[in-house]
Amino acid sequence: MNERFETRCVHGDIDSSPCDENRAISFPIYQTTSFGHLKTGHNESGFDYSRESNPTRQRLEEIVSSLEGAVGTTAFSSGMAAISACFELFSPGDHIICSEDLYGGVIRLHNLISVKNGLQIDYADTTDLSVVLTAIRPETKAIYVETPGNPMMEITDLRACAKIAREHGLLLIVDNTFLSPYFQNPLELGADIVIHSGSKFLSGHNDTIAGFASSKDQVLADKIRLLSKTTGGVLSPFDSWLVMRGIKTLPIRMEQQQKNAQKVAGWLLEQEKVKKVFYPGLKNHPGYDIHAGQTRGAGSMISFSVDCADTALRMLQKVKIVTFAESLGGTESLLTYPVLQTHPDVPAKTREHLGITDTLLRLSVGIENADDIISDLKQALED
Ligand SMILES: *Cc1c(COP(=O)(O)O)cnc(C)c1O
Repeated sequence: MNERFETRCVHGDIDSSPCDENRAISFPIYQTTSFGHLKTGHNESGFDYSRESNPTRQRLEEIVSSLEGAVGTTAFSSGMAAISACFELFSPGDHIICSEDLYGGVIRLHNLISVKNGLQIDYADTTDLSVVLTAIRPETKAIYVETPGNPMMEITDLRACAKIAREHGLLLIVDNTFLSPYFQNPLELGADIVIHSGSKFLSGHNDTIAGFASSKDQVLADKIRLLSKTTGGVLSPFDSWLVMRGIKTLPIRMEQQQKNAQKVAGWLLEQEKVKKVFYPGLKNHPGYDIHAGQTRGAGSMISFSVDCADTALRMLQKVKIVTFAESLGGTESLLTYPVLQTHPDVPAKTREHLGITDTLLRLSVGIENADDIISDLKQALED
């Protein structure tokens, strides 16, 4: 596997991904439930039933594995399906330490399901390694991290967390959605499982819901695959194809979105009504050096706080090019109100402590012209 990242986005691993038998340039969509067999004990294609595996999905899984340096990847019908499957790896009584700056859906998963299933979940400030160490108990089985965190862009030192996990026999699970494998590869930094919401940068066009769980350990990868086959939240052939198509342009989208984000972050900093800008590409961002040491870029997610809730609400109403909407990572710039949209399931006290208030906005910068994005934000900020 000598090809570089951009080439693997387009072709997968040249050696291990055979092309379609008809040499189709765009991998075919195998829209079928089942695969026929010639006689018992024979399975020429290796495929039986599409919940278990499907050629289009398998091709996508191989590409994601290649980009994350995994031995195995399972594609799920959403990021949450991938995350839910990972928490099925644990048993009643097991204790898991999660970053506190976390996608709100994961907190809802814990409140509604993990706790009922007997898991003990603790939220900890994983940016502080002494806090992580203190949180470890005899029943602890895993550390679950997002870096940059959502929405405060908090930075966790992945190499240091991996070392702690190794020393205590824990799994390190990292949600890499915010940076995509283009900017960060948690498995290379020592994580055991990396998760993606493929609905974001990987598919990249705000048109597909998808999720991935990748591992560098074959036993773990096989367990996750068996869980997906058993619980059934698999990615459809068509959606697999859409994500595959999205990934072909991942590097150029990531570069352009980051370039735009740097410009927008710089502009936001100069606005009187903008009180704080949270972007890992800013030198004074907490954890800037750690982030720079474990990634290849700052990405295109920016959170910022404004002077009052009225300003935030007005911006959401007045933006025209940027859309007031949930989600992130696509070609279109989206402005999100975390307190109402992505993090309502976080207890008010935690929200307050983290800074998820009614003055906080989260911006996913798209590939539009940066000056147009800035003009739009400017008119939206004005009274
Ligand atoms: C969107 C998102 C998820 C959930 O993924 P879905 O595809 O929406 O189910 C998980 N983690 C992060 C960081 C996300 O942004």
